[in-house]
Amino acid sequence: MAPELLERVPQISLKSFDIGCLIGKGQFGRVYIAREKLSGYIVALKVLSIEELIKVNAERQLRREVEIQTNLRHPNILRLLGYFQDDIYFVLILEYAAKGELYKQLVKSRRLKEKKASRYIAQTAKALSYIHQKHVIHRDIKPENLLIDFHDEIKIADFGLSVHTIQRRRTICGTLDYLPPEMVEGKEHDEKIDLWSLGVLCYELLTGTAPFEEACHTATYKRIAKVEFTLPDHLSFEACNLICSLLQHDPKQRLPLKDVLKHPWIREYEGQPSSN
Ligand code: AMP
Repeated sequence: MAPELLERVPQISLKSFDIGCLIGKGQFGRVYIAREKLSGYIVALKVLSIEELIKVNAERQLRREVEIQTNLRHPNILRLLGYFQDDIYFVLILEYAAKGELYKQLVKSRRLKEKKASRYIAQTAKALSYIHQKHVIHRDIKPENLLIDFHDEIKIADFGLSVHTIQRRRTICGTLDYLPPEMVEGKEHDEKIDLWSLGVLCYELLTGTAPFEEACHTATYKRIAKVEFTLPDHLSFEACNLICSLLQHDPKQRLPLKDVLKHPWIREYEGQPSSN
C-alpha cells in the first residue's frame, strides 16, 4: 500500500478516462491527453510515480503545488481540476493547453513579434497580479512554465516552486537566467521577484535569448548583480522602456503590475487579434 501523499478522491481513477497520446515528460512523470468518459471533457493527466516522488523527496513540493493551484481561478492560470492516486501513481487532472509550452514556440520562431510578445506579457502580468493579491509568489516564471491554450492564451503552470507568504524569504530558487539580484546576493525577497522575471521574459521573448546569459554561472551571477544587459537595435523604444522599468536592481523601483498593464507597449496591442 502506497503512503498517502494527499487526500484521495475515491470515485475517480485512471479507468474514468480514455487515455490518448503522451504530450510531455516532466521531472517525475508523464503527461497524457485524456477524455473523461462521462462528460467527454478533454484534460491533461499528469501521471507521477509515487515511488519516484518518495525517492527524490518531492512530496512536499507536490503538496505545495496542489494546495496552491487548487485555490487559483484565473483565465491565465492553468486549472488543476482534481487529483487522485492508486498504489502506484499520483495523478493530477489539469486543464489541457493545446499549444503546449511557450518555450517550444520560442525555439521554433527564434523570437516573437512585438505584438505577440506584448499580449503574452499582458496575460502573464494579469495572472501574476491575481496571485500576488492572494499572497502567492510564483518564483519560477520562464517560457518553460508558461503553456498556451487553443485560443493562444497564456496559462501559468508549474507552481512547484511557488510559495504562500506575506513574509520575506531567503531561499534560492528558480532558473539561473531568471534569478533576480536579491537572490543572487542572498538577500530576502518578496513578490517583486516575479516582476524581475517578467522583465527577463519580455527580453527573451523579443530577442530569443535571456538578457544575462553567459556560458558559466558565475559570469551570469555577476551580470545579474550589475544589471548588465544590452538592448538590440530591432527593439522598439516602448519595449525597451518596459524591459528597463522591470529590470531594476532595487525591487521597490520595479514597475508595479498595475502600471505594466497601463504601459504604452501593452496598450498598443491590447484587444488586437492574437494571430502573429
Ligand atoms: P511537466 O511535468 O509539468 O514539466 O510537464 C511536462 C510537459 O508536458 C510540459 O513541458 C508540456 O509540454 C506538457 N504539459 C504539461 N501539462 C500540460 C497541459 N496541462 N496541457 C498541455 N501540455 C502539458
